[in-house]
Amino acid sequence: MAAILTIIYLLASITFIIGLKMLAHPARARRGNLIAAAGMAAAIAGTIFLYKDEEGNFLQNYTWIFGGLIIGGIAGTVAARKVKMTAMPEMVSIFNGMGGACAALISVVEFGHLMDGLQSVPGLTAIDITFQAGLRQQLLIILAGLVIGSISFAGSMIAWGKLNGKIRDFIFTGQHIFNIVLLLVIFFMALYLVGWLPASGVLLFYIILGLSLLYGVFFVMPIGGADMPVVISLLNSFTGVAAACGGFLYNNKAMLTGGILVGAAGTLLTILMCKAMNRSLLNVLIGSFGTGHKGAAGAKAEGGAAYKEISLSDAAMVMNYAHKVIIVPGYGLAVAQAQHTCHELEKLLESKGVEVTYAIHPVAGRMPGHMNVLLAEADVSYDKLQEMEQANNDFPSTDVVLILGANDVVNPAAKNDPASPIYGMPILDVELAKTVIVNKRSMKPGYAGIENDLFFQPKASMLFGDAKKVLQDLISELKEL
Ligand code: NDP
Repeated sequence: MAAILTIIYLLASITFIIGLKMLAHPARARRGNLIAAAGMAAAIAGTIFLYKDEEGNFLQNYTWIFGGLIIGGIAGTVAARKVKMTAMPEMVSIFNGMGGACAALISVVEFGHLMDGLQSVPGLTAIDITFQAGLRQQLLIILAGLVIGSISFAGSMIAWGKLNGKIRDFIFTGQHIFNIVLLLVIFFMALYLVGWLPASGVLLFYIILGLSLLYGVFFVMPIGGADMPVVISLLNSFTGVAAACGGFLYNNKAMLTGGILVGAAGTLLTILMCKAMNRSLLNVLIGSFGTGHKGAAGAKAEGGAAYKEISLSDAAMVMNYAHKVIIVPGYGLAVAQAQHTCHELEKLLESKGVEVTYAIHPVAGRMPGHMNVLLAEADVSYDKLQEMEQANNDFPSTDVVLILGANDVVNPAAKNDPASPIYGMPILDVELAKTVIVNKRSMKPGYAGIENDLFFQPKASMLFGDAKKVLQDLISELKEL
């Protein structure tokens, strides 16, 4: 039985790796997800029905296990089916927080077991126990899972609140120093508990739990709203490490592999996202990006610089006679749910001999890959999606760039305003094209809270309105031509 279970865990681990690999391409992502989920289902079923403890007993508390599976399964399915594409990062945040909470709860339960075991050994004092390397090691893993899991849980809940606007940024003078001190206090308390196992061990354990939750809150609170995806990715890697601690504790290979993969993938994604914004992780964690700072571009706009508007018929005309059009989708396209209409416009233009592609910025929208998923939903061909570098090479030979609900990802302040909070973030160089048409509903700023100098440049014209309505009207106009 144990051998079968080991094989199941091995196969599950392989499916996780294959699944992750397949997630790297939109065309295979869905299948990759299903393969990894099947592996996870097999690992869970194997553990429930085949696992035996040291005395040879199967698991016993089936009511709790199936109760949890049914409630969690229903809640997860309903939430995943109902969630809007724009609210996906919030959901990822909640799910990640739940993973962190599970890892912390495992530590709470196993600490209880460890304490029970300690009391049931007659004549063995706490001090004696500390000399037993195995138990000390176990306590170390329990505490690592507790601290990392609770930070991930509390931090993810704050990230969720920030993303849906329920929680505002909060920072006090010296907060970063306070956070470092708090982390050091947690670290030394945990070290003291493992090293000396004092009589007040249980109390200390719960103080560490409380302080870790507090640290999770204070860690995410001052981070700017626009940096939430990076933070979620970082917290995701924390959850992976916390789950891997559970794998160590139970000597469960699938849990260990799964945890390590999540930890490594989260860390890599965090690094890649920081690279895409040309910022260090430290700058993300203490930079307060997206908290409403206005750069020089904002000041200029406030100073009364003028923008010009373009009519629907003129916009249709310009695109009708263009050889090459690049569409830049942004968060507004997702809000308007205009992806299908956008695909219709693309097909119509192509039927008129216009070459149409899409320029995808790595942080366009509100989650990594947001625009890819959105356009895939509308059956836009993957060959038409250009990554930032490729699009930037193509803009100089492009007649029209049509920006649909994008703002920060085309803001030149990132290149030429050192005072701007997005300075250094690579952006789409749309101003290199001959004509730029910007569709949004107003002159309001995007996620980073800063105004956009692009809108005031001579090449740019504003086409105001909801993206879906504007695209529908553009299609009607184009059909008349
Ligand atoms: P932005 O948030 O910069 O801008 C979106 C624009 O869309 C707004 O200016 C808004 O203007 C417009 N808009 C909103 N609704 C509509 C609508 N119905 N029709 C037309 N326009 C609309 O989006 P970008 O995609 O350019 O940039 C993404 C930003 O989000 C970056 O700052 C990024 O760092 C951040 N971010 C990215 C995440 C990711 O992983 N991708 C996750 C979280 C944040 P108006 O109100 O005037 O219409």
